[in-house]
Amino acid sequence: MKPLVTTLGSHSALQILKGARDEGLPNAVVVLAGRDALYRRYPFVDEVIPIARYADFAALEPELVARGAVVVPHGSFVAYLGQEANERMAVGTFGNKAVLRWEGDRALQRRWLAAAGLPLPEEYPDAGAVDAWPVIVKRHGAAGGAGYFLAGSRASLERGLAALGGAPHTIQRYVVGVTLYVHYFQSVVRDRLEILGMDRRYETNADALGRLPHAAQAELGPEPSFVVVGNAPLVLRESMLEEAYRMGEAVVAASRSLVDARGLWGPFCLETIITPDLGFHVIEISCRIVAGTNLFVEGSPYSALFFDEPMSTGRRIARELVEAHGAGRLDAVVDRAAVAEAS
Ligand code: AMP
Ligand code: AMP
Repeated sequence: MKPLVTTLGSHSALQILKGARDEGLPNAVVVLAGRDALYRRYPFVDEVIPIARYADFAALEPELVARGAVVVPHGSFVAYLGQEANERMAVGTFGNKAVLRWEGDRALQRRWLAAAGLPLPEEYPDAGAVDAWPVIVKRHGAAGGAGYFLAGSRASLERGLAALGGAPHTIQRYVVGVTLYVHYFQSVVRDRLEILGMDRRYETNADALGRLPHAAQAELGPEPSFVVVGNAPLVLRESMLEEAYRMGEAVVAASRSLVDARGLWGPFCLETIITPDLGFHVIEISCRIVAGTNLFVEGSPYSALFFDEPMSTGRRIARELVEAHGAGRLDAVVDRAAVAEAS
């Protein structure tokens, strides 16, 4: 039985479903009733399964298992179903579920990235410890950069923290540079790391502040925010590409000693900021397909270096499933175990 590529209807679902079709795999999308019309517009979607609430996803699992479904997770899975539901999911997922916990906990994530030797912005336990300005304060669980604030002095930091009222947060050095998100794919079947694309997030209003002349900024004192609106492509200076590969390989290697022997595989993304010395600073890892890959449904300047055909990240996932299935190794790329210590 060919794997039935299954995902939730949002984020990068269209790319994933089209990728399945392009690789000759059947596909299905589970979607909130009311958001299903979008997915019926496209002939490459084989099956639309509406549910009334996200909590109803669990009830579908036995049928999906029986039909050989492989769930392809994206940014909405943890946001809408919750980490626990993801860890407990009975349907096989493309990617290692044990990684979710490391991605979802900021302290564990930092331990992992530090173990990989990646350059990380300094973090401070409290306002008194800050020794370089500006800093960014990130409220935990704040989606898409809403609810973050910048502080350029101890007084403004303390004011901002008081307004948070004890909500859990991280105080981090604010890196002034160009944001770059690198889309990686760790292939189990081909045993290699591929860079499939890169993007910049477009964030409001942070990416608009440069349009205000300095005098207007000084007068208006706009508060920056980092709410994602969309994504724009970028190609990196070729002299920095090898470093981008090395960072990805280091993250995969570290996951094999920290998380478990299988480590991280499939799509993942390092969110970086590049400073004028051309140094990368890594602010986050996403261990799944990121929405910035939607720019490259027809492939990217990077995927074209590996494949002589349009290769999106969604299609690359399907290709890995096809190759693993053909080699009788589907279990090497599909995680069917509920995370043991999930509580
Ligand atoms: P949506 O499909 O807009 O309901 O978003 C689902 C989840 O994915 C939310 O947690 C969003 O914050 C996240 N998300 C959607 N689009 C993007 C994007 N372009 N970049 C980063 N995150 C995104
Ligand atoms: P995050 O939720 O960590 O992905 O951050 C959301 C956005 O805030 C990023 O896309 C950046 O634009 C910005 N940001 C986060 N951390 C930093 C940092 N240490 N320095 C500069 N900008 C940051």
